[in-house]
Amino acid sequence: MEQQRPGAPPAHRRDPWRERAACLGLPLELFFGPGPQERGNARARREQAALEVCALCPVRERCLAQELSLPASAQFGIFGGMSAAQRRAALGQSPAAAARVIRTGRSPVRRPPRAA
Ligand code: SF4
Repeated sequence: MEQQRPGAPPAHRRDPWRERAACLGLPLELFFGPGPQERGNARARREQAALEVCALCPVRERCLAQELSLPASAQFGIFGGMSAAQRRAALGQSPAAAARVIRTGRSPVRRPPRAA
């Protein structure tokens, strides 16, 4: 039986909706990077390219909702138009705020603390 790579982007997994994923057929490295050797600008450029794919994806909401159903410790890679850090932040939100994040694909806004 074929093994699926853990953390593979949705198009690399098996669910009917994934057949419409914009990442279908794209390399895993675009969403996860080549490994720990990736640094700074190279990572930022790759992540931006992945986010641009997600921005055009017709199943982005569903993808993000599914990824947010995972615990924060399982959040890595680009999914649903958000980075892992953005999704971890969304997981710390109220259910209503998390639903808004899924609907809009926008990272939760964190206001800086007020100066005393
Ligand atoms: S939102 Fe991004 S990661 Fe999710 S299915 Fe679409 S292209 Fe793939």
